[in-house]
Amino acid sequence: MLSYRHAFHAGNHADVLKHFVQIQLHEYMNQKDTAYTYIDTHSGAGVYALDGGYASKNAEYETGIGPLWERTDLPKPLAEYVNLIKELNPSGKMRYYPGSPYCADKVMREHDRLRLFELHPADSKILADNFRKVAEHAAAQGERSSARGRRVLIERGDGFHALKTLLPPPSRRALVLIDPPYEDKQDYRKVRDALEDALVRFPSGIYAIWYPVLQRMESRQFADKLKRLAAKDWLNVTLTITTPGPDGFGLHSSGMFILNPPYTLEPTLRQVMPYLVQVLGKNADATYVIEKGTQVTGTAAARTG
Ligand code: SAM
Repeated sequence: MLSYRHAFHAGNHADVLKHFVQIQLHEYMNQKDTAYTYIDTHSGAGVYALDGGYASKNAEYETGIGPLWERTDLPKPLAEYVNLIKELNPSGKMRYYPGSPYCADKVMREHDRLRLFELHPADSKILADNFRKVAEHAAAQGERSSARGRRVLIERGDGFHALKTLLPPPSRRALVLIDPPYEDKQDYRKVRDALEDALVRFPSGIYAIWYPVLQRMESRQFADKLKRLAAKDWLNVTLTITTPGPDGFGLHSSGMFILNPPYTLEPTLRQVMPYLVQVLGKNADATYVIEKGTQVTGTAAARTG
């Protein structure tokens, strides 16, 4: 199903959670010199114009990056994320919002590798165009274009399929982001199947999965299914900005599920999530949950808090 365009949702509360966590995962990967591969199975367009037709239609960024933009009391890890977006908006006015490929490109080192997949013909073209502009800028700064060409690979294609071909990565270090639209309920099964396969090919990778928290059965059961995968550890964090109204319309809650999470992530989330609830929450129903678990001989032992 290719009706989904992420531009409608760019910068909303779910993007804030996703990209903030993504950047934290890159920061952890960057602590070791050895190169790593970032695989983005569902890349989107890379950068979104917030004053453009799509994003301004419902102005979803007002539930996410909007309220954070002018804050002067951001916790440090959240400030890193907001500053990255500010660098994309040198005029100071919030006009562009970065997608996951752009966040990765900004935070990763020169010797790391980005492997970006997007199925939608228009968005994959916009993604390639956006990276071409970045490459031109880098060339103007003196960076060799051959080095840049090896660093970033963009393909129009099925990210679930591509993941199989890329694991294990040459450097035996990888961060994988899986972020499908979930408009087709088959996406829930495809994510689980892809992870099952990926954990056999490369058990030590860090896998980050964004998912919507919705009333539909597939969504309600999703995190529990991921907890039963054969990863050594997992961490699940959800951000809810309000409870759904009686029509159940809209996205009010989402989660990031991380397989093999770095030890640094939980303390960072404990510092930042209460702040996000305070600033992005619409009422007293706003909340966050952090759960962690370890695989103990085939069964997951969980701790919630
Ligand atoms: N990860 C992006 C970000 O954070 O900026 C947003 C991705 S958006 C939620 C999901 C994207 O997946 C859409 O652009 C959609 O066209 C694309 N898509 C859908 N099915 C796909 C598939 N099987 N393989 C690759 N991309 C797919």
